[in-house]
Amino acid sequence: MSNRWIRCIECNQVAHVTDYDRSPLYQCDRDYENSIEKPMDDMKSFMMQHGRHSMEELSVIKDSFISEGKYGEPRKASYFQATNGKEQFVIKGWREDINVPLQYELIPGCIKTTLGLKVQSYEIQKQMREEIKNPPAAETKIEQFVRIVERVVSQFSCRDEIEITAETDTPLVSHCKMGSNAIREILSLSREVFDADDLKKVERFIHQNNSYNEPMTLLLKKTFMVKRQRSTAPESEKEPLLIDGVTAQRSIR
Ligand SMILES: [Zn+2]
Repeated sequence: MSNRWIRCIECNQVAHVTDYDRSPLYQCDRDYENSIEKPMDDMKSFMMQHGRHSMEELSVIKDSFISEGKYGEPRKASYFQATNGKEQFVIKGWREDINVPLQYELIPGCIKTTLGLKVQSYEIQKQMREEIKNPPAAETKIEQFVRIVERVVSQFSCRDEIEITAETDTPLVSHCKMGSNAIREILSLSREVFDADDLKKVERFIHQNNSYNEPMTLLLKKTFMVKRQRSTAPESEKEPLLIDGVTAQRSIR
């Protein structure tokens, strides 16, 4: 199946060329009762606008796809990177309404992602009260244990090997397993809080609650931003660009 991205170099616009370009679009009528067939030819309308301009093909950079919003949210925006071999671009895709086709914006620049790990502190406390009984663990000890977990996790880098155990309702947050080095460190620091008997219970608690989306799993949170570069559009059409969230004046050559 053809799946190509064509950029108009002069207008800095992009068209997605697929076998479905000529497929009609089915839209609901105003009362959402009947569907209406609307003939479409996306490439033809792109060629009408840009046919006399110089164009180039962009290749999509593998595994660069990232999306915000919840799974199943039809209007969420998605982003991925593409290149013409010299410059990098971000293609943003979104739709205003589920009845209209995806729209694309071509942004010169790249996607910057950062990863962060978060402890499920509230869930750990709740589960410990639930599981450690006869006698129950003192509330102050549970709190101290959570602080230890937070401290140890803050020292571990997201670059360490991470095992994803469950997804959430958003593609930017997953659950991951607490690694054996982190568990060893947590247990070693917990010796100052718990006596030998309780420490065994704590060790069992960690291992029994460290899979799927259980309380000892960590939340791996991905954040991303689109870092814009200077526009390659004609000088007359350039606008001040956003660089790292700060409005920068474009330099005059
Ligand atoms: Zn054009």
